[in-house]
Amino acid sequence: MSGKGGGSSEPALSFKQELTAVFGQPVAENPTQAMIEAAYRHHGLSWRYLTIEVAPADLGEAVRGARAMGFAGFNCTIPHKVSVIEHLDGLGESARLMGAVNCVVRRGDELVGENTDGKGFLAALRVHADPKGKRVVIFGAGGAARAITVELALAGVKAITVVNRSPERGRALVELLAGREIGLTATFVPWKGEYRVPEGTDVVVNATSIGLFPDVEARVPVDPASLAPGMIVADVIPNPPRTHLVQSAQRRGCTVVDGLGMLVNQGVIGVEYWTGITPDAGVMRRALLDVFGQSP
Ligand code: NDP
Repeated sequence: MSGKGGGSSEPALSFKQELTAVFGQPVAENPTQAMIEAAYRHHGLSWRYLTIEVAPADLGEAVRGARAMGFAGFNCTIPHKVSVIEHLDGLGESARLMGAVNCVVRRGDELVGENTDGKGFLAALRVHADPKGKRVVIFGAGGAARAITVELALAGVKAITVVNRSPERGRALVELLAGREIGLTATFVPWKGEYRVPEGTDVVVNATSIGLFPDVEARVPVDPASLAPGMIVADVIPNPPRTHLVQSAQRRGCTVVDGLGMLVNQGVIGVEYWTGITPDAGVMRRALLDVFGQSP
């Protein structure tokens, strides 16, 4: 069976596959291919998702190559999320606001940059609660925190407190969130020692890299006693999914959202953008758990 975008006259027998990819450097350990190709196979799509090493100096040529070969789109990971923008024809709203693209989509003759990281997070969060009107505390102010907070702001949260180690990055994110275009109530708190989550917080998010494999014993400096049962506690770390934060939040009776939820849902949105079908998220999650050597 052939996918969308194969032209008007489909031959009975076709050896041509629709192409998608991830461009990054280093990229060899990026597991996205396993998740996306599991979805393509499950839905009978003759599509491929290639893991392609692209050096920063070659990014322009790589994007031109993708255009020439009719790629349906591609993901961008480190170090291309910002620099890819100058090679594209347009940006989606949140990608424009955050100034970073992780998913490029061919729409007609144009390559449009989207950011699905924050949208993936939001989809995982919405399983438990509508973010509208919620008070959020987020640890971190890097790319993941930027993507998540911009999307939370667009979804109507009431206020965001950004807790970050380096004041420059923390303040820059708060300026973006509280600025003229977004206009959210946003506060920066410098991270010193164990942070006590204030009473009345609805959602707590770890958007730092603390706890990512292989540093699995690293702990987010937060006072576990300040995590209350009514709170939703989310972690962006996909590997391992059951971080120390997720485990201590569970022990405190909080609702937890692990980093696999965000990773799978950003993949779901990418496949939707490229193919027009909504893939089975369960199939994609199982493919990732397999790669990470975890049982479902
Ligand atoms: P960045 O490098 O842009 O930002 C890293 C953030 O973590 C910064 O705020 C940094 O603080 C903070 N940080 C790192 N180490 C420490 C520490 N020891 N103590 C306190 N703060 C620390 O990375 P990204 O934002 O792109 O990625 C962050 C994490 O999110 C990664 O682990 C990545 O795997 C994960 N991620 C998960 C996704 C998913 O789908 N689940 C999608 C995207 C990312 P400072 O400013 O002080 O340096």
